[in-house]
Amino acid sequence: MNRITKLFGIEKPIIQAGMIWCSPWQLASAVSNHGGLGVIGAGSMYPDVLEEHVIKCKNATKMPFAVNLPLLYPDIDQHIETVIKHKVPVVITSAGNPKTWTKILKEAGITVVHVVSSAKFALKSESAGVDAVVAEGFEAGGHNGREETTTLTLIQDVTNKVSIPVIAAGGIATGKSMLAAMVLGADAVQIGSRFVASEESSAHLNFKNRVVQSGEGDTSLTLKEMTPVRMIKNEFYGKLQSAYSENASLEHLKELLGRGRAKKGMFEGDLNEGELEIGQVATYINKIQPASVIMDEVILEYHNTRRQLSSKSFDF
Ligand code: NDP
Repeated sequence: MNRITKLFGIEKPIIQAGMIWCSPWQLASAVSNHGGLGVIGAGSMYPDVLEEHVIKCKNATKMPFAVNLPLLYPDIDQHIETVIKHKVPVVITSAGNPKTWTKILKEAGITVVHVVSSAKFALKSESAGVDAVVAEGFEAGGHNGREETTTLTLIQDVTNKVSIPVIAAGGIATGKSMLAAMVLGADAVQIGSRFVASEESSAHLNFKNRVVQSGEGDTSLTLKEMTPVRMIKNEFYGKLQSAYSENASLEHLKELLGRGRAKKGMFEGDLNEGELEIGQVATYINKIQPASVIMDEVILEYHNTRRQLSSKSFDF
C-alpha cells in the first residue's frame, strides 16, 4: 500500500485519465473493478448524461471511482451537484482554479485531486487543500500546459516542492514508464492514451484504429493561444498550420476550430475534420485491448523491470 492506494482505497496505483468522449462508465468501472481508479470524463457530458453514467458506474462496481470535471465546463455547477448528490468518492478537477470548488467538495466528503502542468500550480493546488495532484507533462494528449514541461522534468520538480501525493501523467503507457515515474518520486501514474484504445472506451472505432496505426511524430501540441491541446496531425491540423503561417488572428483560429471538433473526431470518427486528442505514446500502442489486460500488462512489466534493476545490467 502507498499514499495513493491508501488515499483512494484501491489496490493498484493506476489512475485512468478522464478523457472527453472516451471515458464512459463502462471504462471507469472496468478499471475500478480491476484494482485501479476508473474515471468518468464529464467534460463532454451534458448534466443528465453525467448523472446517468455515475448511476451506472455505481451499479457496475463496488470499488471507488472518480469523475473528472474540467472547471471551464459551461454548466459546472450542475456537475458539482451531481457528484455531491451521488457521493462520488473522488473528483479530479482540471482546467481551472482549484480554490473555487475544493472546499465545497471536501465538505461533502469527496477526495479532491487537481491536474497541473507546473510546480507553481501544484503548490497553488496544495494551498487550496486538494488531497493530491496529477502532474501532467508535455507528452500527454488533449489539454496541456503552455510551458511544454516534459514529464521527466515536471515530476521531479513537483515531488520536490509539494508534500501531498503526486500522480504522474503524460507519456506513461507501460510498466517501464510507470516505474520511471515512481523512481522520480510519483506515488501513482495516470494513463490516458492506452485506455482510449481499450475495448470499453467510447472513442469511435475509427479513432481507436487511428491511434493503433499512429507512429512517431504523428501528434503535436497546438492552439496555444486558446487552450493548448495535443492532437493527431490530420487535415484539420493542417488547416490550423496554414492559418498560423498566414498569421491568423485569434478570431480566425476560433472560427476555424468552431464547435464540437473533438466530438466530430473522437466520438463520430471523422478522422479528417475532427480533433483527435492523443498523447505521444500512441506511437507504441498497437492493439485495442480490454482495460483489464492493459492493466495486467502494465503491472507485469512494472514488476519484471523492477526485478531487473537489481541485476548487473544497471551496474557501471
Ligand atoms: P466545444 O465548445 O467545441 O463543444 C462543446 C462540446 O461539448 C459539444 O460537442 C457538446 O456536445 C458537448 N457538451 C457537453 N455538455 C455541454 C454543455 N453543457 N454545454 C455545451 N456543450 C456541451 O468544446 P470541446 O469539445 O472542445 O470541449 C468540451 C468540454 O471538454 C469542455 O468543457 C472542456 O473543458 C473539455 N475538454 C477537456 C479536454 C481534456 O483534455 N481534458 C480537452 C478538450 C476539452 P453536443 O455536440 O452533443 O452538443
